Amino acid sequence: MRFGTYFAYWENEWDADYLQYCKKVSALGFDVLEVSGAGIYSMNEEELKELRREAERYGLKLTACIGLTKDNDVSSEDEKVRANGTAFVKRLLDHMHIAGIDRLSGITYSYWPFDYSQKFDKPVMRAYAIQSVREMADYAAQYDIILNLEVVNRFEHPLLNCAAEAVGFVEEVDRPNVKILLDTFHMNIEEDTFRDAILCAGPHLGHVHIGEANRKVPGKGHIAWDEIGEALRRIGYDECVVMEPFVKEGGKVGLDIRVWRDLSDDADEAKLDSDIADSLVFVKKSFWRQIRIINVRKHLL
Ligand code: MN
Repeated sequence: MRFGTYFAYWENEWDADYLQYCKKVSALGFDVLEVSGAGIYSMNEEELKELRREAERYGLKLTACIGLTKDNDVSSEDEKVRANGTAFVKRLLDHMHIAGIDRLSGITYSYWPFDYSQKFDKPVMRAYAIQSVREMADYAAQYDIILNLEVVNRFEHPLLNCAAEAVGFVEEVDRPNVKILLDTFHMNIEEDTFRDAILCAGPHLGHVHIGEANRKVPGKGHIAWDEIGEALRRIGYDECVVMEPFVKEGGKVGLDIRVWRDLSDDADEAKLDSDIADSLVFVKKSFWRQIRIINVRKHLL
């Protein structure tokens, strides 16, 4: 398992200068920096190469995450909108390849956040989503890029709310580079238990987002970290575990995530840094305690 964090913990906008975060998250002890697909899409070739070099300099793996906008809805009944969406994602995949990024996570099967003011037909949406995901996955395969479809709660999207729905979806998509992303914030709302959801996803699990129920850094809330660590070990999970905390209101990030109050205890940047560094130690301890127990069991056998 490799541990990382999303850059937006420190930012109010999705499109930020990612270069500075390579040094910062590396210094805080992380091995992975997750950036926004929207930012990667808008960078030119030289900027993408510069980001790649900076990540390599600090030994960081880069991953990307995005929720497609409504005009790029790849599950739309309108063929033109779907074509817009798949063209956008293909260009994003081109950019990711230049930046050395081989994991695209988030809502790439529809759009986000979902607009519930309009009528929709879930089975029709699902069928178009499957068709588009296959097309994008086949394009991503040339770059060995994996699409990790994010399971989100009912208030954000209606299609994939729990691990079981996502397993059915990716099995029907039937592409080796299409996997599932589970996020503890969404799981807390939709799943019976964290353990059962992770076991259900099993070999389909390609990415994990972690955060508390109120999106604070792990360790400041009531999420069952020991249970999650044990379940990940049980399925032999060896991919990225990326923190996705959102604790500051303001900007497009605050609006999209619905952050309406300060959840950081008015932290300045130094305090945000020390909070997330402490959280990383906490998560490793929670997950690795389970690893040690399993290793002791193996030794006894
Ligand atoms: Mn997430």
